[in-house]
Amino acid sequence: MKMGKVHFVSICHCDRVEWGESAYSYDDMESAIRMINEMIAKVEDECGVRIPMTYLPCFFHGKKGYSVAGEKADLFRELLKMGNEIGVHTHVSYDNLPTQDEFIVPDADTLENLGFPRPKTWVAGDFYTTPNTIRQLETGGYAVDGSVVPLEGKFYHGSRRQFEIDYSKCKTLSPYRPSYEDISLPGNSPIVELPVTAYLPELCYRDQYFPLTKQKPEERLLSKWHGRERTGVDVFHIFWHPQDLWRPHDAWYPQEAGKPKKIDHKLLESFESLLCMAAELEDVAFSTAYEAAKDWTKSDLNPH
Ligand SMILES: [Zn+2]
Repeated sequence: MKMGKVHFVSICHCDRVEWGESAYSYDDMESAIRMINEMIAKVEDECGVRIPMTYLPCFFHGKKGYSVAGEKADLFRELLKMGNEIGVHTHVSYDNLPTQDEFIVPDADTLENLGFPRPKTWVAGDFYTTPNTIRQLETGGYAVDGSVVPLEGKFYHGSRRQFEIDYSKCKTLSPYRPSYEDISLPGNSPIVELPVTAYLPELCYRDQYFPLTKQKPEERLLSKWHGRERTGVDVFHIFWHPQDLWRPHDAWYPQEAGKPKKIDHKLLESFESLLCMAAELEDVAFSTAYEAAKDWTKSDLNPH
C-alpha cells in the first residue's frame, strides 16, 4: 500500500521595505534571514533533518523600480549555495496591479542574467493574479505558483480597493493544476499551484494578522498529515516576509522610520516549534516549493 507524504514548504517573500521616497534599508532583511538560518541550523542539528527553503527576491516595477536580487546578489547566492531555492516575487505599484503579469517573464530573465538558475517558483505581489498569469508563467519557464490564498477568499487591493481578487472558488488546500481561464479552478496547465496554507505570524498573532481559518496553522499541518494516505503527496505551504520578524509589526509603515526595531523572539520561537513538530512527524519532508511540486507531479494519484 502506498504511504502518503506531506511536504513542508516555506516561501519567503523578500520585499524591500521603504520608509520614504529615498529611505530604505536592507539590513533588516538580511538580519532577519540570518536569524532564521541560525534557528534552522539548530533545528537541523537537533532533529537530524535538512530544511531547505524557497526565497523569492522582489522585483519592483514602478517609478523607482528595483531588484532585490540585483542589489543583494551576494545574500541570495549564499542562500542558493546552502541548498535553498531562489525564485521570483513580482511587484508593481499598488494602483497598477493589472500590469503585473507583464513582468513575469522579464523577471525570470533578469534573475537568470544575474547568474542564478532559471527560476521555477513565482508568487504574485499582493497575491494579485489575472486570467493571463498562468500563460505568462508557462512562457517564462516556471513550474510552480504560490499566489492563491483560498482561505482568504475574496479581497481587494489598490488604494481605492478597486481590484477584486476572488480565491473563494478554490476549494482545496492541496496542489492542483490550474485552469487557463481561472487560476483558482483546477484545469490542464502544467504549472503546479501550491495554495497558501498558512502565514507565519498567524502562529502568534491570530488577532492582529489575518487569521486564515479558525484552525491554527499547527492544526492545519496535522490535518494534512492525518489525511496523507488519501491525498498521496500533499503540501503545507507557509509564507513569511523577513520583516515579519521585526517588532513593532507596523514596521512596514513610514511613521516607524528610524525607530529601533526589535526582533520578535516569540514569533521566531514559534517558527522553531512548528519546524520541530514537523520534523517529528513521520512522512513529513522539508522541501523547496519546486521539489515538492515535482514530487506531487510524479505521484501516482495525480497522473499527468
Ligand atoms: Zn510582496
